[in-house]
Amino acid sequence: MPLTPEQLAEIDALRATPRPTLRAVSEGMEAHLYKAAPVLDHGFVRVIDYMGNDAAIVQAARVSYGAGTKKVNDDSGLIRYLMRHWHSTPFEMCELKLHVKLPIFVARQWIRHRTANVNEYSARYSIMDREFYIPEPQHLAAQSTVNNQGRGAVLEGAEAARVLEILKSDAARTYDHYEEMLSQDGQQGLARELARMNLPANIYTQWYWKVDLHNLFHFLRLRADPHAQYEIRVYAEAIARMVADWVPVAFGAFEDYRMGGITLSGKAIAVLKRRLAGETVTQEDSGMSKGEWREFTEVWG
Ligand SMILES: Cc1cc2nc3c(=O)[nH]c(=O)nc-3n(C[C@H](O)[C@H](O)[C@H](O)COP(=O)(O)OP(=O)(O)OC[C@H]3O[C@@H](n4cnc5c(N)ncnc54)[C@H](O)[C@@H]3O)c2cc1C
Repeated sequence: MPLTPEQLAEIDALRATPRPTLRAVSEGMEAHLYKAAPVLDHGFVRVIDYMGNDAAIVQAARVSYGAGTKKVNDDSGLIRYLMRHWHSTPFEMCELKLHVKLPIFVARQWIRHRTANVNEYSARYSIMDREFYIPEPQHLAAQSTVNNQGRGAVLEGAEAARVLEILKSDAARTYDHYEEMLSQDGQQGLARELARMNLPANIYTQWYWKVDLHNLFHFLRLRADPHAQYEIRVYAEAIARMVADWVPVAFGAFEDYRMGGITLSGKAIAVLKRRLAGETVTQEDSGMSKGEWREFTEVWG
């Protein structure tokens, strides 16, 4: 259960007191505000605050005094133009602040995205909760034989059961030891900042994470991609669903040009031109390495 009944009541209370505002709002994002979207077994993502909407991107691009928007078609065309030509600063005018609960090994990957602002739950100050990520059986997979950074076939039978048991019992044992070391019952009790070092990387942490839309798109392109690890991808996908409601036009352009588009090298363009002229091109005379050729033919056949 990602949230306690008390926490859910606090969210309901926040949503029960709307106030009029002169600020730009996005109706789509208002529907998400404060609510927690569950991710993995104990995690979540929830929107704490946001700034801007599709119109704010247009307004910044035109450096307008007023609303800055024209006809819907013009605005949509402008946003697509900005995305297509990497004119990125108007997207930086929109901001998103999230509250995320995530396993520490996912947080390690996430924190590599330096262009965000972060404030994390302090395990020096507070006691960590007894909450560990234990994968669903279908996500317990073997090491991939073709991708050193990926997973392959799902573990089965006795091996799957044994791995699950190891994960659960190790988590329980380390947390028991954590509590034992912290305890002040008949002893001084080890400092929280030291006792935590024995906890495994699948324990959950929490943070507030604030990022602008340009850098959020960069995060989503890398982490909502099928090559990203499943456990961070599901967070990126949950955020992407919120962004689609927040800035639908900008998200549509992002999906089209970044998620759905492909960057072609000069060599790849040359091969495609030769193919269109009826020539048969092989890896050897393409000028591409074997790896480049494999990736190229995965897309173009
Ligand atoms: C599939 C995958 C596998 C990965 N494998 C590994 C791995 O094996 N080992 C590993 O260490 N990491 C790995 N990473 C992490 C990756 O190298 C990046 O650190 C991470 O994706 C963050 O990307 P970023 O630096 O572009 O993002 P951000 O930090 O958000 O930066 C966004 C952009 O801002 C600019 N920028 C930010 N800071 C600076 C700076 N100091 N100087 C110059 N420009 C800057 C750059 O243009 C950058 O692209 C992996 C990532 C993915 C998606």
